[in-house]
Amino acid sequence: MEAMTAMRGVYLDNNATTPLLPEVFDALRPFFFENFGNASSSHERGRQARRALEKARGQVATLIGASPGEIIFTCGGTESDNMALFGVVSPGDHVITSIIEHHAVLYSCKRLRDLGADVTYLRVDGGGMVNPDDIMTAMRPNTRLISIMLANNETGVIQPVEEIGRIVADAGILFHTDAVQAAGKVLIDINQLHCDMLSLSGHKLHAPQGIGALYVRKGAAIRPLLYGGSQERGRRAGTENLPGAVALGKAAELSRDWLADGGAAKMSALRDRLEQMIAEMPIRINGASAPRVPNTSNITFDGILGRTLMTELDLRGITVSTGSACSSGSANPPHVLMAMGLTPREASCSVRFSLGKQTTEEDIDTASEGIREVVRKLQHKL
Ligand code: PLP
Repeated sequence: MEAMTAMRGVYLDNNATTPLLPEVFDALRPFFFENFGNASSSHERGRQARRALEKARGQVATLIGASPGEIIFTCGGTESDNMALFGVVSPGDHVITSIIEHHAVLYSCKRLRDLGADVTYLRVDGGGMVNPDDIMTAMRPNTRLISIMLANNETGVIQPVEEIGRIVADAGILFHTDAVQAAGKVLIDINQLHCDMLSLSGHKLHAPQGIGALYVRKGAAIRPLLYGGSQERGRRAGTENLPGAVALGKAAELSRDWLADGGAAKMSALRDRLEQMIAEMPIRINGASAPRVPNTSNITFDGILGRTLMTELDLRGITVSTGSACSSGSANPPHVLMAMGLTPREASCSVRFSLGKQTTEEDIDTASEGIREVVRKLQHKL
């Protein structure tokens, strides 16, 4: 699949954001010009907008096996995560989450704590996985919500969400999963996961930034974060981002086709090719022993700072990352890697490579050649 990338080079930071697919752009373009109605207006232009919005809702629902009425459009993964947590947890409630969650969940939990809720943070093993048995141990009579991500943004490690979902469903506790990094990369069926809420973000699956969705199981009561108009059945006030929703719907449909067409296997073959092509170097692949989404590889390069490696690759037109885009401006090594037992130094010597649907074999060969060249250069300086 070709994506709309103007800059030349190799882009391997798709966990930070992805380029639009041309089909997504073609789908959303008319909604800036000809079909620009407000979905709440009762004239024909408004009704057209409403039909487009509901079509998009159906496309997003289909991606995860939900009903359209269970999808709330939001402005992205962060809002979806915040809504899931602040929408159900009250002072005095207990929440269980993990220490490897995205900051959208971790900092929401910190705020919930300030507001009088209690939070248990589960640890992970050396492979980056939560142990479902720990959920059982952590549960209390006042546990209101469990929030465990589906795939980790740094390592790509897929958490045992299905097993956790079964435990949680039996206990009658609400279960949220942040599927921002899993959606469009692996098959998701909310009934198999037994989750009550699931977060999605458009710009991680080749739709634009600023659109996302929260799945809320029918019957699960959730308080809105925003008050105003009665959009999204009174659950999220504010005029909907129609072009964004249309784009997310189209990206969801394309992702489904891509998954049905064996796209994930082809992508993981490319990711494995990258890992194999640099395997003779002093590296360690973080989370390689666990199931991973097909696009992510997190690698520690012995003795070479990730930031230096990233900058050198950037100079060669190869874009990679040293951590989640939201915290990569900070000097702290990724919390996820340290939670897996890496020392701060080892965690600082790590780089995340994340592929997109546009990534080609040629990109992988160029990137691995660039990595080998840069590592050789930097090793000489050690
Ligand atoms: N959750 C995870 C796992 C993420 O990786 C991200 C973004 O990197 C988010 C939530 C936040 O999504 P957004 O950028 O759409 O707010």
